[in-house]
Amino acid sequence: MVKLTNIPNYMERIRYALNAASEERFCPPDSELFTARKSDQMQRHLDNCESCRDRLEAFIEFEYTPQNSSQQTTSTQQRPASGDLWTIRPDLAGWDDSGRYFNSPTILVLNFQDNQTILAAQTCGIEELAYQGDLILDAPYAGFVEPWNTKFISIDSLEKKVGEVSTNLVKTVCKYEETAPVDTLPFLIKQFRRQECEVADYVESKSKSLVTPSYLARLFEVPVGYELLCSDEKLEHSFAAATTTIEREVPGGEGGVIANIESSKGKITIRFVGLDSYGSVLAGLFNKTRKQAIPLRERGGSKTLQFSIRPGAEAELYFDPSDDINDEFEIVLAAPSSKE
Ligand SMILES: [Zn+2]
Repeated sequence: MVKLTNIPNYMERIRYALNAASEERFCPPDSELFTARKSDQMQRHLDNCESCRDRLEAFIEFEYTPQNSSQQTTSTQQRPASGDLWTIRPDLAGWDDSGRYFNSPTILVLNFQDNQTILAAQTCGIEELAYQGDLILDAPYAGFVEPWNTKFISIDSLEKKVGEVSTNLVKTVCKYEETAPVDTLPFLIKQFRRQECEVADYVESKSKSLVTPSYLARLFEVPVGYELLCSDEKLEHSFAAATTTIEREVPGGEGGVIANIESSKGKITIRFVGLDSYGSVLAGLFNKTRKQAIPLRERGGSKTLQFSIRPGAEAELYFDPSDDINDEFEIVLAAPSSKE
C-alpha cells in the first residue's frame, strides 16, 4: 500500500484514504472471498470492486490457506468498562443487498445505559480522514474516535478488548455537539462520514437481534435458583405470535413446572403444570425492539409476575394480543431450577 503521507496533494491523499477506508469497511475477508461457491452478493461485489478481483486472481495463483477462524464466542469473562476499546464480534459481519460486506468495527465504550447496553462511539484506523470534532487516539493506537457516530448496542455484540483510553477523552466524546452544519463539510469527508454511519447502523441492527436467554435472565433479574424456561434453540418458539407449543424438559421428572405456550384466536395462554413439588413461576414480557422488560399490566407496576403452583395442579395465564402482545414482544418465563 502507498504510504499516505507520501502523497503531497491534500485532496489526492484524502481520496486515497477514503478508498482504503471503503475497502476496510466493505470488502469481504479472505474466508468469505475465497470460497468456491459465490453468492449473488459476492458476485455483485466483484463486479464493482477491482481490488477484490485482484485478490481473487492472486488467490488462484498462490493458493489460499484458510486461517483458523473458529473463534466467535464473546469473551463474557471480562465486562466492558467506560474508556475501553472493543472489537465487535466478527460473526456479526455480513452482506447487504448492494454487495457490500460490513466488516465489524472497533468501538469505544462511553457509558452504560443499563446492565446490558452500552453507548459506543465508532473508531476509524485511518487518521487522514479525521476532521473537525474527531479525536485522535494516543499511541499505541492508530486512528481516531468519531463522536458524531454513536449507538446503543448490547454488550453481547462485543468480541474482545483491544485497549483503553483516558477518562478525559471519553468526557470530550460525550460532550461533543455538532458545531458546523453537515453541508459545510468537504465532499469526501461527508461521504466518509455517511459510510461510517452506515456501518454503525449495521452493527446496531445486528446487536438488536442478540436476545439471548442469559440476557433476558439479567433483564428480569431472575433470582438464583430459578431457571429460564427457554433455551437458545427454543427462544424463537416463545414469540407470542407463534402457534408452537413450548415445553420445558424437566430432568428426571423431579419438581418444577412445565410451561406450554399456546396461541388461539387472539388469546395467548400459558399453562403451568406443577409436578411433584411446589413451584413459583416468574413471568414477564420483553419488548424485542426496545430491548426492555415490561411489567404485566394486570399487576400494575411490577416488573415480573410471580405466582405459586401446587403439586399436580394446573395454572393458566392469559394474555390478550390486542392489548400488549404482538411480534415485538416475547413472553419470558422462569421457574425454580429442579436442582434446588
Ligand atoms: Zn472489494
